[in-house]
Amino acid sequence: MDRNRLRLIAIDADDTLWDCQVWFDQAIDVFKKTLSPYAGEEELFDALTRTELGNMEKLGFGGKAFTISMVETAIAFGADREQIDRVLRAGRSVIDMPATPLPGVVETLKALRGHYYTVLYTKGDLQEQAGKIRRSGLTPLFDETVIVPHKDAETYRDLCGSCGVEPEAFAMVGNSFKSDIAPVLEIGGWGIHVPCALSWAYEDIEEYDHPNLVRLASFRDLAPLLLG
Ligand SMILES: [Mg+2]
Repeated sequence: MDRNRLRLIAIDADDTLWDCQVWFDQAIDVFKKTLSPYAGEEELFDALTRTELGNMEKLGFGGKAFTISMVETAIAFGADREQIDRVLRAGRSVIDMPATPLPGVVETLKALRGHYYTVLYTKGDLQEQAGKIRRSGLTPLFDETVIVPHKDAETYRDLCGSCGVEPEAFAMVGNSFKSDIAPVLEIGGWGIHVPCALSWAYEDIEEYDHPNLVRLASFRDLAPLLLG
């Protein structure tokens, strides 16, 4: 990676800058325990996944869509009012997740400041993502924050265009190979993959090697990579 040619660094938010999936997993645990009188854990989880996939086109991603899907599934299993309320509160804990920066994030962003044009680039529900960005306190450490409904080759081309850089001068940092890496490699940019221990099944795709792909064990490794 020739960092002298890089000008634009975009960074994913959920599970890159702060924990996210862990909050979904905790809520799913509450969902499964609450509805255990009606079905086994696997059946409950499969039913929830089916509802989520069915709702995805209209509701998109995020805590709100997830909460509606949990409540809808709970009702379908015959949950009573108290059980629905418990599931609803579990969903709210996802929507209100604290978005506390992961270890090393603040120091790394401070170090990068001024060396590159930096963009926090996240997908999902506008209000929900904006709330997390605000709670994280990271806004002043970026030149720009951008929230898109989804990430693909076209949205990354738009990002490069709006920042006035060619894809060759652009690197995207993130935990999701499917959303943060593959479409960026496709347009000729650089992918910096920082995997996270937990992943969402929807984001799973086959990973592959690529000359423009860099894999980092930790977000902390970003400053040494980009600053030397
Ligand atoms: Mg992510």
